[in-house]
Amino acid sequence: MSEQDKHKKRMQAQKEKVDERIAQATEERGILIVITGNGKGKSTSGFGTVARAAGHGLKAAVVQFVKGTWPCGERDLLQQVGVPFHVMGTGFTWETQDKDTDIKAATKAWEQAKIWLNDPSIDVVLLDEITYMLTYKYIDLDDVIETLQNRPVNQSVVVTGRACHRAVIDIADTVSEVQSRKHAFDAGIKAQKGIDW
Ligand code: ATP
Ligand code: MG
Repeated sequence: MSEQDKHKKRMQAQKEKVDERIAQATEERGILIVITGNGKGKSTSGFGTVARAAGHGLKAAVVQFVKGTWPCGERDLLQQVGVPFHVMGTGFTWETQDKDTDIKAATKAWEQAKIWLNDPSIDVVLLDEITYMLTYKYIDLDDVIETLQNRPVNQSVVVTGRACHRAVIDIADTVSEVQSRKHAFDAGIKAQKGIDW
């Protein structure tokens, strides 16, 4: 058999395997995706999913559990196409470290998240950086787990942030851990518009 024929045979066998697996994946429902780890690419992945959904005319909503008035190119773009955002904000608490203010802001952001996580008309919900709220215990883990589990059956959710809590990973359908091999910042390169925010 020629090299070309061998290659063709191998590819055919592979195609059959893939086709078989595709035929086996018949269930249709929303999924819970977790993008965690220390490498760059978690939030960009979450926003990529929201852009993908919006591009198909699906409804997506975003809660950003970030402090301060963080500029964000993807927010400016996605709001223009009607994706609602709730940004936690809280002013400049990285500087003041006021725990009560943080908890109030986190609770408010989570309340908005819950409204979207109960709304079957929303196809995709992004909970950007929510993992830190659980790490600091600013929001209740049991409430988060219960709300995620009871969300509308066709709704998908993306959770991003480092050190995702085990309980969230356990109930997720897809979990990716972004591992850092290198980061430009470590070589002294400044974070930049369009790349980092
Ligand atoms: P991105 O928003 O670029 O996808 P991310 O969501 O994976 O990043 P975060 O932990 O949310 O990462 O950090 C946000 C900011 O920190 C971004 O400006 C990002 O470039 C930067 N960053 C991410 N990972 C690292 C790292 N390993 N070292 C230094 N800076 C990082
Ligand atoms: Mg992020």
